[in-house]
Amino acid sequence: MELAELTTRGFSELLASDAPAPGGGSAAALEGALDTRSKELEAKALEDRLKAEALDITVPGKAVKRGHRHPMYIALDEMKDILKEHVGFVKSMWCGDRACEDKLKDELGVTSRCIPFEQEHVGDTCVCCGKPATKMLYWGKAY
Ligand SMILES: [Zn+2]
Repeated sequence: MELAELTTRGFSELLASDAPAPGGGSAAALEGALDTRSKELEAKALEDRLKAEALDITVPGKAVKRGHRHPMYIALDEMKDILKEHVGFVKSMWCGDRACEDKLKDELGVTSRCIPFEQEHVGDTCVCCGKPATKMLYWGKAY
């Protein structure tokens, strides 16, 4: 800023950016340095975020497991596991068909032990065939 300009504009008309900042530099120089540093930090933050969120599309994905075992087989396996580990009875729903009772006797070694008068609803389908169940009963092994 020229001396002549100062005299014509007056001291109160000085722009704030022209005033010397505490510590020696001008306010404009400090603002410029602040803007530069802010942009550097924003660029670094963006770069870090891009690195953190980067996806390698060449990595093979995990195979999606399709389908599942029929709930009837899940229930039978659960019954097998219970009978392997524990002594006692297993209650399940039953369709009332003698063929299912015989199948459970052959496969699991259990027979029907009790059909309680007070029925409890523990499922909708027969543990053996998957047909709609009519009764809840206790199964057990004979030792
Ligand atoms: Zn059945």
